[in-house]
Amino acid sequence: MALSHVVGYPRIGTRRELKRATEAYWDGKVSREELLETARTLRLEAWTRMRDAGIALIPSNTFSLYDQVLDTTAMVGAVPARYRQPLEADVDLDTYFAMGRGAQTDGLDVTAMEMTKWFDTNYHYIVPELGPESTFRLASRKPLDEYLEARAAGIETVPVLVGPLTYLLQGKSPDAEGFDRLSLLPSLLPVYVEMLGLLRDAGAAWVQFDEPVLVEDRTPAELEALTRAYTTLAGAAGSTKLLVETYFGDVDESFFALANLPVAGIGLDLHRGQRNLEQLRKHGLPGGKFLAAGVVDGRNVWINNLEASLKLLGELGELVGPDRVIVSTSCSTMHAPIELERENRLDAEVRSWLAFANQKVDEVGTLAQALEDRNAVADALAANAAALESRRTSPRTNNAEVRARVAATTEADYRRHGNVIERRSAQRARLGLPAFPTTTIGSFPQTSELREARAALADKELTEEQYERVIEEEIERVVRLQEQLDIDVLVHGEPERNDMVEYFGERLAGFTFTRFGWVQSYGSRYVKPPIVFGDVARPEAMTVRWSTYAQSLTARPMKGMLTGPVTILNWSFVRDDQPRAETCRQIALAIRDEVVDLEAAGIKVIQIDEPALREGLPLRQSDWTGYLAWAVPCFRLSASGVRDDTQIHTHMCYADFNDIIEAISDLDADVISIENSRSDAELLEAFRDFKYDKEIGPGVYDIHSPRVPPSEEMGGRLREAMKVLDPDLVWVNPDCGLKTRRYEETVPALEHMVAAARELRAAL
Ligand code: GLN
Ligand code: ZN
Repeated sequence: MALSHVVGYPRIGTRRELKRATEAYWDGKVSREELLETARTLRLEAWTRMRDAGIALIPSNTFSLYDQVLDTTAMVGAVPARYRQPLEADVDLDTYFAMGRGAQTDGLDVTAMEMTKWFDTNYHYIVPELGPESTFRLASRKPLDEYLEARAAGIETVPVLVGPLTYLLQGKSPDAEGFDRLSLLPSLLPVYVEMLGLLRDAGAAWVQFDEPVLVEDRTPAELEALTRAYTTLAGAAGSTKLLVETYFGDVDESFFALANLPVAGIGLDLHRGQRNLEQLRKHGLPGGKFLAAGVVDGRNVWINNLEASLKLLGELGELVGPDRVIVSTSCSTMHAPIELERENRLDAEVRSWLAFANQKVDEVGTLAQALEDRNAVADALAANAAALESRRTSPRTNNAEVRARVAATTEADYRRHGNVIERRSAQRARLGLPAFPTTTIGSFPQTSELREARAALADKELTEEQYERVIEEEIERVVRLQEQLDIDVLVHGEPERNDMVEYFGERLAGFTFTRFGWVQSYGSRYVKPPIVFGDVARPEAMTVRWSTYAQSLTARPMKGMLTGPVTILNWSFVRDDQPRAETCRQIALAIRDEVVDLEAAGIKVIQIDEPALREGLPLRQSDWTGYLAWAVPCFRLSASGVRDDTQIHTHMCYADFNDIIEAISDLDADVISIENSRSDAELLEAFRDFKYDKEIGPGVYDIHSPRVPPSEEMGGRLREAMKVLDPDLVWVNPDCGLKTRRYEETVPALEHMVAAARELRAAL
């Protein structure tokens, strides 16, 4: 039977067990033992599910209590000094969580490590902090422990490690600008060798090293480092086979270095990676290597075209040898929801087009079986063909009116009337704000009462009217609080929103949403991305009711809050049967209608969040302009239907924006609030060379940490920012929305923020 393999598997549990357990542990409500017990149960469930689907190479160590890159930091003992990790001991659980989320306890007041997006996904990893002083030692045996745990349960697994090249290159060197992290390879490798030795001695048949950095632009020096690393590792592998796995696209110039590594197998993404196939056609694979052929899309929700995959696998068999092909996913399935079976409220037709992680695992199993004996899976193949045909021909994927409207847009629809200077003076006259205006990013803490009310509404224990009362009361509370705090531009707090994309997805035609389709965003924060299956339209206003209610409570300007088209696109599972740009333009027109309605209802400031603009960037720089050429105009299409004296804000966070600062400027938003504290003011670099001529609020404190910084620290951030920004254009705001925080932390933090703004005004 052909080998089957899954690159990685979701860790959060079908019922979000991991979230509950970690959060309860942080709150002191469950013990360390209870948390670890939940983790064990989740791992066993995952392995069992894959074994039952007939998967031969089942990944282990893809479980994580917080993040797999943070796990690697713990494994190699690269704990930054501020966490006061004892030099000999293994990294303990509380140090681990302190690195992930910061800590404020008796002995320790530390910020979290930086977090940023994992390639072009909406998953955030904890960025390794690496510098000339970094040293490494084996400080966690998690990969071995989990391998042995599976073995004890009778399941043979493939331990998965973040590869050394990816670990170093995905790190940052905050205190050593320009430091060549690859120079750390010689001191890092011995730790990998030690871990590999433990796995080898424990009897692991395969060990997988994830090297997704190979789908990004790589220099010859980096590729040499790759060869050095795996030559060393291969020397320590004994009879254990090494699999170097790549995903999220084409390996292009890395192909030769990768294909010639002295390892048993390599993994290629053959879903997105169309050029990968070309290279295999041209060059094959040297030395009888195994090819983990990523034919099942690991990160979207659409069923595989099984016949097409079989044909491809047949061709790959000819190229590399039939017994060398391993049927696999294109990447870890951790970016997809887990189980479709439970989605009993999805429309049956749409549902037949979908495959979540478990269904993908089954698809891999089916394909491997079909390679041996088609007849054994004839039913599955027939059902798959029927579902594909229904999707192709369904009238639900085609709305003529929407298509006509997109086709009829003209250049003028993509531009504001006045230029930024004209708009600024009109807006200043209308809004009358002080210097260094204060605002927040939109959401206020999501209290348990709110969550309970939402659940009660879903269970019909609250009527629509009762629920709306709860929301109104919450809005009123948030408005009064902001007035008390003396914030200048208020928000309604977004209490009616479960999630900034899901909320809109639920109100737009062409979208559907799941009940349990959670995907990890970072740590214990999960999102439930909507699914765009058809043409997008806005049947009715989505936010006007709440924004106007909030505005009616106060004389201060109330900011209308929307999620931008590019972010809605990038944080949804998007149909793959038309170009993404086309889907994005449809969403942009729907948001534009909302913007225009808000303005007509008397809202003077409207924020269109685009935190996901950057993550839509193709991983290779050469493809960037193509993406920005439609993404930036889509934002403008959504924002340009308003008068000059209506102030358009946007917001971005948790990514490196420095290299697309011109595109950000091209959005032509009057004001941008942008995360700046969690990433330690790295952002400001961008403004040294680039003169930003619109208003900007660089975040003055990290909202992902329960830590409350003193107002001097926030003031310091602002002073630092004003070295490169025009003080006349500076706003004062947190890094991002406050919904993951508690009021205990939020109120003092905002007090400090307003105090910092006052202090600056006084100094002016
Ligand atoms: N307006 C959103 C909020 O405050 C923005 C969140 C985000 O940038 N991710 O929650
Ligand atoms: Zn944000």
